[in-house]
Amino acid sequence: KSTVQAGAEPDGEMDELAEAIDAKVTLQRELQDERKNLPVYKFKDDLLKAIDKYQVLIIVGETGSGKTTQIPQYLHEAGYTAKGKKIACTQPRRVAAMSVAARVAQEMGVKLGHEVGYSIRFEDCTSDKTVIKYMTDGMLLREFLGEPDLASYSVVMVDEAHERTLSTDILFGLVKDIARFRPDVKLLISSATLNAEKFSDFFDEAPIFKIPGRRYKVDIHYTTAPEADYIAAAVVTVLQLHVTQPAGDILLFLTGQEEIETVEEMLKQKMRTFGGKMAELVICPIYANLPTELQAKIFEPTPEGSRKVVVATNIAETSLTIDGIKYVIDPGFCKLKSYNPRTGMESLRVEPISKASADQRAGRSGRTGSGKCFRLFTEYNFRNDLDDDTVPEIQRSNLANVVLRLKALGINDLVSFDFMDPPASEALLKALEELFALGALNSRGELTKTGRRMAEFPLDPMLSKAIVASEKYKCSEEVVTIAAMLSAGNAVFYRPKDKLVHADTARQAFHAGNVGDHVALLNVYNAWKESGYSSQWCRGNFVQPRTMKRARDVRDQLEALLERVEIEHCSGVGDLGAITKAVTAGYFRNAARRQKDGSYRAVKSRQTVFVHPSSGMAEVTPSWVVYHELVLTTKEYMRQVTELKPEWLLEIAPHYYQRRDIDGHEPKKMAKGKGPAPAPL
Ligand code: ADP
Ligand code: MG
Repeated sequence: KSTVQAGAEPDGEMDELAEAIDAKVTLQRELQDERKNLPVYKFKDDLLKAIDKYQVLIIVGETGSGKTTQIPQYLHEAGYTAKGKKIACTQPRRVAAMSVAARVAQEMGVKLGHEVGYSIRFEDCTSDKTVIKYMTDGMLLREFLGEPDLASYSVVMVDEAHERTLSTDILFGLVKDIARFRPDVKLLISSATLNAEKFSDFFDEAPIFKIPGRRYKVDIHYTTAPEADYIAAAVVTVLQLHVTQPAGDILLFLTGQEEIETVEEMLKQKMRTFGGKMAELVICPIYANLPTELQAKIFEPTPEGSRKVVVATNIAETSLTIDGIKYVIDPGFCKLKSYNPRTGMESLRVEPISKASADQRAGRSGRTGSGKCFRLFTEYNFRNDLDDDTVPEIQRSNLANVVLRLKALGINDLVSFDFMDPPASEALLKALEELFALGALNSRGELTKTGRRMAEFPLDPMLSKAIVASEKYKCSEEVVTIAAMLSAGNAVFYRPKDKLVHADTARQAFHAGNVGDHVALLNVYNAWKESGYSSQWCRGNFVQPRTMKRARDVRDQLEALLERVEIEHCSGVGDLGAITKAVTAGYFRNAARRQKDGSYRAVKSRQTVFVHPSSGMAEVTPSWVVYHELVLTTKEYMRQVTELKPEWLLEIAPHYYQRRDIDGHEPKKMAKGKGPAPAPL
């Protein structure tokens, strides 16, 4: 009997191997068939001819027509990657860059990171072999630092140009310049909207290549009255569609991870209460920080007899195309950056979308057949309240980061930089002021040594400055850890509903001695490191292992950059004052003082702000604090808060703070001469 088994085994293995090879061959054949079915395929030859003929080409085509995944492959097949040159394709979103690269690698039958790779902040998945490189627009911008003429690329495709992100807008100016002195380079500007004239005008009347899309009829339904709670309305609509509508998947647009998780939970709960009475609903969330292993799930075919509901941020508006969507639910909101040049504050807000966005969203349901779009707002709303287009990000952002980058590229005269839509001069001025205050620019607006070092870090200027300052305070090890933790994402801790007390106790341990949120993050990292980077430790302490792993990756990269800018590794173990001073050297503008009613007031902007309830400082409420960022929910909350000694502001930023800023609480009254200044709180 045993001999039979022994003999059977290798045979079984051979069968399995043969089956695996068969499956692979079938998959490849299917993929190649799918490629030929995409609208762009019919125009392959014309497109290649046009690219050959013109140096700059604007490409317009409906979302899902194959621009992003196919055009780089066509160029590769046509020989644009010969002689060791690469093709760059930029994406405004990291998830899109990763997911599209994975798809193209699969279509080409190569391992991701070999011939096809991607590069996003803190994650480089490319190798010497890589010829098609998907990357975020921000990463290509960084590449200019090391290679100002982008000599290693034969083609640069600025994809999703209609998104008009800050980095894409800067890239426009830079690549246009390159095209002038590198006649061999090809520039493709691709966009999903028909408003391509503007791109053509900017790129010296470059020709427009239109890929006629397939778009089936989409029925649009509005609500009869405005919805008070669009989350609840969205959940109800999903379930109604699921019960009443014929087969076809649903795409629901929400504004961010938190909302998506809430809705996911609500839907799961509802489905449980219905028991087996309803067909299965496969819920697939997709947002920027979704772990890689879950990203692929949204593309998996829906099992027979069930329905998929994709719950997505704006990412599914044009960046990603999910096949099989027949119903779109659009509450009409998205998260947008907004900037107040007067206070210099930038914040993310939930805002109504534009008409153009609403139309794009609706179109997602009519890609493979007629579809339906359910707008959770009224038709009156749509016609009268929505803007036609979204304002480009460059006109609603803090520009300090961009200005620092451009200065590092040697572009000094920002006023005459070739912007498609120039930012407000007030915002440019504010950015220059901010960089001057951080010591990155001198009074003539030239980059200083500090500024040059700061520009090497792929971080916000304030955080880069904290790192550069850590040299002076002899605590670079600690500050780099803090910077890595701050960059790794907001989800460090989690609180399971059935273990709230345990989770809170575990978390408080890191705050022992009221060290502040920055040092608490440092404590978490160090304790995890001591545990041998153990996931077990994470579970025991209610810390997200994923965030920690990411922090470790980020930290490794920041450490390498420290070396590059020659900042000594030094550790001021236990010297919390030094660490807080280094943080303050970057974040002194974010100083706030407690008011009598327990709220805080930002020292310079005079804005009323509150300690975020999740902060370890929420109950401690020291008189003076420095914070990492503001988030607007029901109020303006400070996130990541640490206690500060007011004298430090004078010591660290004497050019920014004067004694009168920290003495007394109402400098205006003092100016009016109403008696002596009140004693500090
Ligand atoms: P466009 O850039 O014109 O919007 P794409 O090239 O992104 O179009 O998409 C072409 C096709 O490739 C679509 O049918 C889409 O569903 C598919 N696709 C893109 N990325 C993936 C992925 N990661 N997994 C599976 N299919 C994908
Ligand atoms: Mg695309």
